[in-house]
Amino acid sequence: MTDQISQVISNGELTAGYWRIVFRAPDIAAAAVPGQFVHVQIPGLKDRILRRPFSISSVDKTAGTVTVVFKVVGLGTEELTKVPVGADMPVLGPLGNGYAMREDKTPILVTGGYGSASTLFLAECSAKKGIVLMGARTEQDLILVEEYKALGFDVRVATNDGSCGHKGFVTELLDQALKDTPDGVIYACGPKPMLYALGKLAIPTGVETQLSLDQHMCCGVGACFACVIKMNDPESPDGFRYARTCSEGPVFDATEVYYE
Ligand SMILES: Cc1cc2nc3c(=O)[nH]c(=O)nc-3n(C[C@H](O)[C@H](O)[C@H](O)COP(=O)(O)OP(=O)(O)OC[C@H]3O[C@@H](n4cnc5c(N)ncnc54)[C@H](O)[C@@H]3O)c2cc1C
Repeated sequence: MTDQISQVISNGELTAGYWRIVFRAPDIAAAAVPGQFVHVQIPGLKDRILRRPFSISSVDKTAGTVTVVFKVVGLGTEELTKVPVGADMPVLGPLGNGYAMREDKTPILVTGGYGSASTLFLAECSAKKGIVLMGARTEQDLILVEEYKALGFDVRVATNDGSCGHKGFVTELLDQALKDTPDGVIYACGPKPMLYALGKLAIPTGVETQLSLDQHMCCGVGACFACVIKMNDPESPDGFRYARTCSEGPVFDATEVYYE
C-alpha cells in the first residue's frame, strides 16, 4: 500500500451523474487486484479532511494509471468532478482484500449502480468470460455496458422501472444465469440490501458467492472501526462478530455474512 501524489490524466462525465477519472499512480497500478479500492483526498474539500473510497475500476500497468468510475452523490464527489487534468491528488492504495479469483470457473457478475465499476476490473483480468447481471433504478443508471460487452461478457439488465431489460430486481435474473453457467462463481458489488438479498438467494444453491460490501468508512486502513459489519460467529453468544470492511473486506464470502 502506498500513499502517493497522483497526477490526474483525465476526468470527464461518462453518462449523466457518473464520471470517470484516470490518474497516474504507478505503484498502485502495479500492485492492485480486482475488488480493491483507493482512498482519495479530494482537492477542494478544504474543511472536510476525510478521504473518499472508490473501487479500482481498471488499471494500466504499463502506463502506471488507475481508473475510477464514480457517481455524484454529495460534496466530495461533486468536488471530484472539478479536479482538472494535471492536478495533483493524494491517493492511498490499493486497499482492502479484493476478490478471490477462481480462474477455473465462469464468472457471474452481479452489480447494482456504481457496483459495475468494481467488477469491471475483475472482468478485464478474468481469462473466462461470463455473464453480467446489471441492476439499476432506471436506464440512466446503467454504466459500463459497452465495456463489459467489449470484453466478451453477456450483459443482462434489470431496471426497477422497466426502462431497460427486465423490470424488477437484478436478483430475479440469478436463477437463469446459474442454469446457463453450471461452473459459475458469483462476484457481486452494489447496495447492501441488494447484496444481502443476493447472498440469501445464492447460499442455498451452493455456488460460491463473493460480496463486495461498500460500507461507509473513514480511515480506510482498519484503525477507526467506523465501517464494521456483522459476520457470523458461532462462538459468540450473539452469533456474530464485527469485521472491518476496509481492512478485512470489502469482499466477503456470502456464507460469512450475518444477515439481519
Ligand atoms: C470500498 C468502497 C468502494 C466504493 N467504490 C465506489 C465507486 O467505485 N464508485 C462510486 O461512485 N462510489 C463508490 N463508493 C462510495 C463512495 O465512497 C461514496 O459515494 C462517496 O464517499 C460519497 O462522498 P460525498 O462526499 O460525495 O458524499 P457525502 O456528502 O459524504 O454523502 C452523500 C450521500 O452519499 C451517501 N454515501 C456516502 N458514502 C457512501 C457509501 N460508502 N455507500 C453508500 N452511500 C454512501 C451518504 O449517506 C449520503 O446520502 C465506494 C465506497 C466504498 C466503501
